[in-house]
Amino acid sequence: MSAPANQLVNEQPANVQMLQIISGFWISRAVYVIAKLGIPDLLKSGPKTAEELAAATKMHAPSLFRILRALTSVGVLSSAGGGRFAQTPVSETLVTGAPGSLRWFAVSELGQEHYPAWGNLMHSVKTGEIAFDNFFGVDIWKYFQQNPEDAAVFNDSMSSVTAATNEAILSLYDFSNFGTVVDVGGGHGGLITSILKSNPKVKGVLFDAPQVIEGARPKLEAAGVAERCETVAGDFFKSVPAGGDAYVMKWIIHDWDDEKSITILRNCRSRMGANGRLILVDCVVPETDEPHFSKFIDLNMLVMTGGKERTAKEFEQLLSSAGFKLLRIIPTELPTSIVEAQPM
Ligand code: SAH
Repeated sequence: MSAPANQLVNEQPANVQMLQIISGFWISRAVYVIAKLGIPDLLKSGPKTAEELAAATKMHAPSLFRILRALTSVGVLSSAGGGRFAQTPVSETLVTGAPGSLRWFAVSELGQEHYPAWGNLMHSVKTGEIAFDNFFGVDIWKYFQQNPEDAAVFNDSMSSVTAATNEAILSLYDFSNFGTVVDVGGGHGGLITSILKSNPKVKGVLFDAPQVIEGARPKLEAAGVAERCETVAGDFFKSVPAGGDAYVMKWIIHDWDDEKSITILRNCRSRMGANGRLILVDCVVPETDEPHFSKFIDLNMLVMTGGKERTAKEFEQLLSSAGFKLLRIIPTELPTSIVEAQPM
């Protein structure tokens, strides 16, 4: 995930700029439709008409045509003549399984659970409560337990977006001196797999909720790292596995408010030796007005989880409340940074 062009202000007259902003979600939802239907996969073999694409996806051809025409007008697709639509570099990012593919991210972020929660954004602003919980009557993690298909899409979206950030993390942080690295809330194991693959002497522990761990084991086996990676199911509010020299948490702390984050961090702290390292991978919000993706991921946290993105100062305070000293923040070229701490 490279930094998006989130500076919308451009050369257009102010009212045109505002109309582009207001209609932004029309584009997003149209993108959701083609991602969900796998249209970019179908365009891999060459341009196709709306009728051909509708037949392949069992959709209503005249309506699908309108979606494709609109997306072509903003450069997501292109016209190939004869009423056929063609792939562009932008639609290629939605091809299933392409490195860093955004297909499942688009389906998850714009589909069943995130989108209705965003529709309820005003509730969070009014009350400070989680818009998702207010709309669905359960929290997102319970929702995923009850809706395995949406959970699978979310886990796949995390794995593919994670793939794009792993390389940056591994090139900037040296894991080779750790005996055991514990990935707390590691999902299906994308990050721990990359760490183990590039550091053959390191052992791994993947820790997550039981239903997630169940899905992770076959992926670790397929990646050829299962022998060096233990899987542990549990609840990080109760405890995390002992014995790690490093505890990695990628996109975990931003899911929780300060109180809950401190509980998770203290649970890591209590399992760590004095020389252990805590490695958080999360956005660090710049304190200036510059465009930064973190400022909108922060809104995603507001509506979905009740968590937030934090500034460097906020990380330092949070870590110190949980018994950690902030050592350094290593920015990557992506919106995500590496925050390294050690027990105080
Ligand atoms: N670190 C992964 C996944 C981030 S999504 C990545 O970067 O791709 C957040 C993860 O936290 C999910 O996998 C979710 O199952 C896990 N999680 C949420 N609540 C948890 C809990 N109480 N105990 C353990 N894991 C939990």
